[in-house]
Amino acid sequence: MTQPQPAHQPATILPFRPPVAGNNAWVDAGAYLERAASQIGLESEILLLLRSPFREMHVEVPVRLDNGKLAVFSGYRVQHNGARGPYKGGIRFHPDVDLDEIRALAALMTWKCALVDVPFGGAKGGVHCDPSTMSEGELNRLARRYMQNISHILGVTRDIPAPDMGTNAHTMAWMMDAYGSANGYTPGIVTGKPVELGGSYGRESATGRGAVIVLSELCRELGAAPADMRVVVQGYGNVGAWTARLAHEAGFKIVALGDVHGACYSDDGIDVPAVDAWLAEGNALSQFPGTEHVPPSEIVTLPCDVLVPAATGEVIHTGNVRGVRARIIVEAANHPITLAAEPVLAKHDVTVLPDILANAGGVIVSYFEWTQNIQQFRWPEERVNDELRTRMMAAYAAVREESAANSVTMREAAYAIALKRVAQAIRLRGFV
Ligand code: GLU
Repeated sequence: MTQPQPAHQPATILPFRPPVAGNNAWVDAGAYLERAASQIGLESEILLLLRSPFREMHVEVPVRLDNGKLAVFSGYRVQHNGARGPYKGGIRFHPDVDLDEIRALAALMTWKCALVDVPFGGAKGGVHCDPSTMSEGELNRLARRYMQNISHILGVTRDIPAPDMGTNAHTMAWMMDAYGSANGYTPGIVTGKPVELGGSYGRESATGRGAVIVLSELCRELGAAPADMRVVVQGYGNVGAWTARLAHEAGFKIVALGDVHGACYSDDGIDVPAVDAWLAEGNALSQFPGTEHVPPSEIVTLPCDVLVPAATGEVIHTGNVRGVRARIIVEAANHPITLAAEPVLAKHDVTVLPDILANAGGVIVSYFEWTQNIQQFRWPEERVNDELRTRMMAAYAAVREESAANSVTMREAAYAIALKRVAQAIRLRGFV
């Protein structure tokens, strides 16, 4: 006789994704979450929900190259959590892009949007390619095809991309155009667009401006005059260049500026507008006259007070962290410090302004751009910059308060605040 069977067999729950050896970004993202969850005493069911992204998409992106050959790129869009609003996050064109990295960056966007209290969830996208080797025509075709292939999970109230490494306002214009061809004029489908196409004044400089706002505030609290603070900026793309320009304008002493080819270094300080003029003539950053050339591997260990990693992730790791001489690190890049390197910095009393705070200026102004698009209205640049400052200062104050109250680092404080907000949104929505 057969035994009576229970009405329902419990499903076998497999871990969503086992950690992949050698790829740290997603492993680190998980560790930050677990740490914040135990810090705030998060209930296990919400933690379970947040451990994995809501949706991951991997698309094939075929592009006809200028030489007539067909190249097929891998494109991704990961939507991490949407409890607080539509998914939001940039699109990266870079040779390091893979699903793990995009997952980690999508999770960072969830925490970033919650921390600075913009009504968005977190997402990220990317295409595994090397844009520095591609023509404008090839990039145009790549952007359009990628957009077409992910467009059914996007929407002005669903998921709104923006620029990130290797993409810019021009890329967003192509993506908006590709989306509009199928769906009608929809400027709010991407942010970080050219101003002529509905972009916001102040969006291009916003990430750098936000980073300088929090750095200035920290220095004010420490009683450190900007002129006495020697700053090294690693990365001279949109974020690094604007951070350097605005820090220079705010009176900080910029002693080194670097990119993938190396840095120019001068203890006497570097005239950033003169560097921009030098670059505009087609010259190399690391060859800026009157400065010393520093190889790329030595940029993060240069003598300075403030180090601003403003390019790729994981540039400060266990292999070089002991050489870091800065007192303050401003994470203008996403995830520039590996989890394993953190304790070394803490031991040496290095204050880290964490990425989800320090580089949140970009998504804050993306939020302003989106609201302007929805209202078909435009704010003057002063209003954008004032409201950006208000939000950055509020987030900074909240992080400082949480950090002091619980004797935790600013990263731990930032994650705790963000996680509480996301968890509360999940609870209020209800889930079964
Ligand atoms: N890519 C930027 C970031 O990492 C901006 C994202 C956005 O504006 O949506 O924060």
